[in-house]
Amino acid sequence: MNAEEILKKRWGYDTFKPLQKEAIEAALAGRDSLVVLPTGGGKSLCYQLPAAMGGLVLVVSPLIALMDDQVAAAREAGLAADALHSNLKAAQKRASYQNLASGRTELLYVSPERLLVGDLYEILAPRLILAAVDEAHCVSHWGHEFRPEYRRLTEALDNFPKAARMALTATATPIVQDDIRAQLGLRSPEILIGHPDRPNLIYRAFPRRDQFKQVLEVVRRHPGEGGIVYAQTRKDVERLAAGLKKEGVSSSPYHAGLSAEERRQAQDDFVNERLDVIVATIAFGMGIDRSNVRYVVHANTPRSVEHYQQESGRAGRDGLPAECALFFSASDLATHRWLAKKDANLPPERERALEKQLRDIGRYAVAPVCRHSLLAEHFSAPYPADGGPAQESGCGACDVCLGETKSLPKEEAVLTAKKILSAAWRAEGRYGTGYVVNLLLGRPNDRMTGNGELSNAG
Ligand code: ADP
Ligand code: ZN
Repeated sequence: MNAEEILKKRWGYDTFKPLQKEAIEAALAGRDSLVVLPTGGGKSLCYQLPAAMGGLVLVVSPLIALMDDQVAAAREAGLAADALHSNLKAAQKRASYQNLASGRTELLYVSPERLLVGDLYEILAPRLILAAVDEAHCVSHWGHEFRPEYRRLTEALDNFPKAARMALTATATPIVQDDIRAQLGLRSPEILIGHPDRPNLIYRAFPRRDQFKQVLEVVRRHPGEGGIVYAQTRKDVERLAAGLKKEGVSSSPYHAGLSAEERRQAQDDFVNERLDVIVATIAFGMGIDRSNVRYVVHANTPRSVEHYQQESGRAGRDGLPAECALFFSASDLATHRWLAKKDANLPPERERALEKQLRDIGRYAVAPVCRHSLLAEHFSAPYPADGGPAQESGCGACDVCLGETKSLPKEEAVLTAKKILSAAWRAEGRYGTGYVVNLLLGRPNDRMTGNGELSNAG
């Protein structure tokens, strides 16, 4: 059977999604590849199908919590799939290991830590045709989820010189792509990069004024539909979830402070459509399998454009229209910076990467530029996707192109800018934004009256 026939027989699909076939062919020919496909692009099939054609495939993934689901999905396609990681019960570990030893296993998921223990090399090496590294952006500190143990993966992969390597991720800028190639030791890899744009998502970004009220407005636009609300802290999550509940919205909180049972329940209810809204920290959603999520709200600014692409990407995986709203405040960026630095001093290159991430997501949130095009540009992809000229009316799927963002007439904008500059100048750069704003609005405060500037504030 060829790849198409197996796709049809085992998965019931008639055609490949973009780049799946190329990735599978590279793997079967023993060539390395870098596969960047957006959420919902069908990455798992790229390494599962080679396993179905005979030979052992190893999948390294940092998301232990999802492995059970992935193993179950692979078994549904008739694959002899198992997992090995620290969270398994002894009996499960034994079964996985026995399958491996007896040569029955076709697909083995491992955590990086488990692989790096080193005891599996000998048993895997003779049969291994493909070593797939999922969430490959984790090797790069330019990416959004650096994991130090990923840096040691080449050391592990070097034990399988005959197996092809496949690095997969949903989001990688060119710098991250280069880093993945280098860090995972990809040998003249096939570079397979899908277009990151998700045309069915409607993006909106607003300055945050009243968090709860603004979130509620979005939720109210989607009565009875599935939605995810992301907030920065557990406290925000609790407050927003309680507020929504009080307004009669079917909703639950989700964060790392809840018990495993409470989290499982919330996730289960949401996936099975017994619950409309999950209010969560970013602890929620990795690989969440509900395709009809109609909106994703960020009540706080995400940590990077990559995070935003990944989190907002959980909306509309069924291809139908869905809304992604972001409520921006500069103070969120300060919080991200503080959290990133509170435990340890960052090495200079990590610090530079962090500052760039914060600048980029801030720009996304405030620039009066088509948001689809900004996201595509961030991942160095052309927009529109075919590289042709932009439509007069823009993308038709963001607040800027839909004409929803307020803009001042040109003369008024120039005058306002002049006033702001002049106020900042008069404050001699000694004071912060808040002071200059008060000065312009003629709002008195102690420091101003002390400086004698109130009377002639513009
Ligand atoms: P990703 O990991 O890239 O987000 P998944 O591997 O979870 O994507 O696949 C997303 C969805 O697309 C899944 O429901 C999967 O079964 C489906 N899918 C994968 N390949 C195909 C295909 N060739 N045709 C139709 N559906 C597909
Ligand atoms: Zn647009």
